[in-house]
Amino acid sequence: MSVRYRCAACGNRTRFDVLSSRRTRAFWHFTLGGEHSVDEEEVLADEVESVTCRWCGKSSSIEVTAETAAVDGAPEGPRAETTARV
Ligand SMILES: [Zn+2]
Repeated sequence: MSVRYRCAACGNRTRFDVLSSRRTRAFWHFTLGGEHSVDEEEVLADEVESVTCRWCGKSSSIEVTAETAAVDGAPEGPRAETTARV
């Protein structure tokens, strides 16, 4: 399932500022020389706190559309969509 945003005020569907908080668990790898790299990162939680339109600057008019990914070979039909206001 993928999420799409749409600004109901100006019709923008492509440019947004998204403020989110993430909780992750990562495997940090240090060399003996002290160099650091992140080898694996697992996202435990990813919560979008606010979405602001880059065009008109409004955050109160953003619509979230959750689209169910089409399954290959599935017959054409109305897409399952749910729309909710943030
Ligand atoms: Zn807008």
